[in-house]
Amino acid sequence: MSGKNYYDILNVPRNADEKELKRAYRSLTKKYHPDINKEEGAEEKFKEINEAYSVLSDSQKRAQYDQLGHDTFTSASKGSYQGGGAGPGGFNSDFGGFGDIFDSFFGGGARGQRGPQSGSDLLMRIQITMQDAIFGVDRDVDVMHNEPCPACDGTGSATKKTNVCPRCGGSGQERRANNTPFGQFVSMATCSQCRGSGRIPEERCKTCNGSGHSRVRRTITVNIPAGVESGMRLRMEGYGEAGDAGAPNGDLFIEMHVAPNSAFTRIGDNIETKAEITPAQAVMGSSITIKTIDGRKIDLKVPAGVQYNTALKISGEGVRRRGRPGDLLVRMKIIIPKHPGSQEKELYEKILDLEGNKESGQGSRGFFQDLKDKIK
Ligand SMILES: [Zn+2]
Ligand SMILES: [Zn+2]
Repeated sequence: MSGKNYYDILNVPRNADEKELKRAYRSLTKKYHPDINKEEGAEEKFKEINEAYSVLSDSQKRAQYDQLGHDTFTSASKGSYQGGGAGPGGFNSDFGGFGDIFDSFFGGGARGQRGPQSGSDLLMRIQITMQDAIFGVDRDVDVMHNEPCPACDGTGSATKKTNVCPRCGGSGQERRANNTPFGQFVSMATCSQCRGSGRIPEERCKTCNGSGHSRVRRTITVNIPAGVESGMRLRMEGYGEAGDAGAPNGDLFIEMHVAPNSAFTRIGDNIETKAEITPAQAVMGSSITIKTIDGRKIDLKVPAGVQYNTALKISGEGVRRRGRPGDLLVRMKIIIPKHPGSQEKELYEKILDLEGNKESGQGSRGFFQDLKDKIK
């Protein structure tokens, strides 16, 4: 909310009356409406204006806002929308929060559907190790969601019987006149008495207060398949919020976040790691032992003359998610000894002597060879 308060956003004094608010709101929404104003940030501004007006135009909310102050008021209203925060990562606040204020202000939007409402989807983020991402794992996650109330089987009625809603006659919809700054609109909206289900409890269930839902914490085992990557979402059908009686549940989406690994990097279906070898091993070739990501040991033959940063391939030790598994790539890091022992020094000196005969440095052919070629 960019540190501003709602009065600043609407550019009105604190004691502004209803008329002033409406006037300010009307001119600002005209200016920043996303259909009219294509400037960057206009949509954000438009949402801010709507949020500010939805609070200040409601005398009860405005009194609360004035009393609590901006930060307390906005954080309190956001907090109430969030899920239980169970499990690692908790629920994401993408659900509810500001979107709800926006939607309700504009008369429901997608919510004004006919009939029983299906349950909302939930999103949960979890962190997994790279090893689990590569090989797959079963993970238990705690999720807080609505389930049908066990006392009334989700009907909301203590007798488990429901009657046709007298307000909407069972359609779940009612005509509603909305007075907006743009004029009066008559729209079909979800029935306020039965909340769209078309039926009301014969006798209100005391356990769930007639909602038909109860909030419970459940441990769910998620089968994370081999080969998942950060940002991938697994869909657990029906594990979201319970719908109204007769309507489907929402889904639970589990978003993976793969923790970085200090020794291994994943590139598509291949896994990359490093191995340190000595200059002698690089020159002469060698056999070294490589530890795989799941802790197994594999022998790797380093060919004679291997160059710095060359990647040697161990086939089939990468990610196994499709038919053909990826490979493990081992990058050769040739470590130059900083403090060689006296014997080693002697040997290196001998090599240096041998190399002394050669033209070294940039290009191996040297000046005289080039000259000879030109004379030819
Ligand atoms: Zn109704
Ligand atoms: Zn109940």
